[in-house]
Amino acid sequence: MFFDLHRHLEGTLRVATTRALAVRDGHRLAAVDDLDDLLVARGPLGGLVPFLAKVDAAPAAFSRLEDWQRAGRECVEDAAAEGLDYLEIRFAPWFIRQETGLAPEGVIDAVADGVRAASAETGVRTALIGILLRDLGPECGLDQVDTLLSRRDLFCAVDLAGNEGGVPAADFAPAFARARDAGLHVTVHAGEGAGPESVWAAVRHLGAERIGHGVRAAEDPALLEHLAARGITLEVALTSNLHTSVAPSYAAHPVRRLLAAGVPVALCTDDPRASATTLPAEFEAAREAGLTDADLAAVRVNAREAAFG
Ligand SMILES: [Zn+2]
Repeated sequence: MFFDLHRHLEGTLRVATTRALAVRDGHRLAAVDDLDDLLVARGPLGGLVPFLAKVDAAPAAFSRLEDWQRAGRECVEDAAAEGLDYLEIRFAPWFIRQETGLAPEGVIDAVADGVRAASAETGVRTALIGILLRDLGPECGLDQVDTLLSRRDLFCAVDLAGNEGGVPAADFAPAFARARDAGLHVTVHAGEGAGPESVWAAVRHLGAERIGHGVRAAEDPALLEHLAARGITLEVALTSNLHTSVAPSYAAHPVRRLLAAGVPVALCTDDPRASATTLPAEFEAAREAGLTDADLAAVRVNAREAAFG
C-alpha cells in the first residue's frame, strides 16, 4: 500500500504540459531554452527558497481554469502510474491567483473537478488540502482561509507553506483557529527551512496534527518526546530535503533518529516533478537512509493511520 500524504499540485505540473500551455499562450516560459533545468532540481540547491523557485515557476503557464482541471487530472494519473493507493494533494489557491490572475474559488473548483474525474477513472483515492501562503502575510491569512471555507466540503485539511524563514507561524493563529472551527484538519510546514522552534510554534499556536517535513525536530529531544507522545506524524520527503540542503545525503538524513525516538514518520514526495521522484523511489531512498524492512512497514502503517481523507 502506497499512501502519499504530502504532495504539492504545483510541484507535479508536468514539464511537457507547462511547455505546451506556454506555447499556446505565447507565454515567456515558451522561450526558455532548458525548461527542465528551470523546473527540476538535479542536486542540492543550498536552501528552501531556490527549491521553491523551481516548484513555483510552472503555475504561471496554467492561465485558464480548464488548465487547472487538467493539472488535477494529470496529477492523479501520474500517481496511478506510480502505483499509489491514496494521495493527499495540496495547493495554494492564492498563490495560483498571484501567478495567473485567476479567481482562487474557480481554481479550487477546477482542480477538484479534474482530481475527482481521474480518481474515479484510476481508482486512486484522493483528498485535497488547502494551503495558506506564509509569504502573503498574516492579515491575508484570514482571507485565504475564507476562500478555502467557501469550498469547505472539497477540503480535508489546511496547511501553511512558503518561506519558513519569513513570517512566523504564530501570526497565523487566528486563521488556523477559523479553519479548525470549521472542522478542517491541520498540517503545517515546519522544521525544514527553520529549526525546532518552528515546529513547536506549529503545534502550540496552529494546532498542527501533522508536520510537513519537521526533520529538524531531531535537534531537540524534548520536541521529539512531545511529537511521539502526541502521535504527531512527520511528513518526511527525503529527496526534497536533499534538494533544499536540509540533509547533506540520504545516509546522513535524521529520519532514523526520528523513528528511533518513537515519532511517527510517513514517507512523502513533496514535489515529484521538481525533485524528479516518485513515492516508490522515496522508499528506495529510505533504504539508503538506513531504514530496515521493519521500519518501512511501520512507515506504511503510520501513513495510513495519519491520513486525513
Ligand atoms: Zn511541502
